[in-house]
Amino acid sequence: MKNLTHAVAIDGPSGAGKSTLARKVAADLKFVYVDTGAIYRSIGWYALQNGVSLECAEDIAQLLPSLKVEIQYGEDGLQHMLVNKRDVTKEIRLPEISVAASKVAAVPAVREFLLEMQRNLAREHNVVMDGRDIGTVVLPDASCKIFLTASAEVRAERRCKELEERGTPQEYGVVLEDMKRRDEQDRTRKIAPLKQAEDAILLDTSALNFESSFEALLQIIKERIGDET
Ligand code: C5P
Repeated sequence: MKNLTHAVAIDGPSGAGKSTLARKVAADLKFVYVDTGAIYRSIGWYALQNGVSLECAEDIAQLLPSLKVEIQYGEDGLQHMLVNKRDVTKEIRLPEISVAASKVAAVPAVREFLLEMQRNLAREHNVVMDGRDIGTVVLPDASCKIFLTASAEVRAERRCKELEERGTPQEYGVVLEDMKRRDEQDRTRKIAPLKQAEDAILLDTSALNFESSFEALLQIIKERIGDET
């Protein structure tokens, strides 16, 4: 059966520039951008708020019935995250939430809890969805799959710049180590690990600036789905 909507799946490790690139590509294509990392971050935030041990999968799973995660698109076009009606969009960007997100994301009940929410978005809209398992698990039939990566050093440099611009600077060495630890956790977890889907196109942006990365990404997508949009 032919899909009625288009889905572009962009996966890759942290700091590869997925969200900035995906947001711009989505705007260009007039697709809805879905940042799935923000959803896991919202659950990580909720777990910390409730003082739950991030090492205890059972305790994390027990939080889920009392949790309502919603995505809202503001007038600014940005994706806002609501946890039980509270807007946590800004708070979920703190470094401690990155670690918490990665921990809760390894809990099978959490991934199951979020699966339909992500699939529904792709049923209802043309989407550019980024994450770690979009091409492999969430949207295996996506019209176009891209695995976006860059060397750990380049990714850490970019993340440092981003944190500085947000007014929360961190040392390069700390960022690099955190990033490597999180990637390791994402790659080696049992459920939905970070990996390139067999039919995904690899785009390594280590040697590319933002504009060239954007052009390369858009070209890949347009080659795959351009004629159908
Ligand atoms: O993309 P971002 O860095 O915001 O994601 C935070 C964490 O959420 C990741 O380190 C990963 O553990 C988890 N995640 C995931 N699957 C996704 C998106 C994010 O496991 N599709």
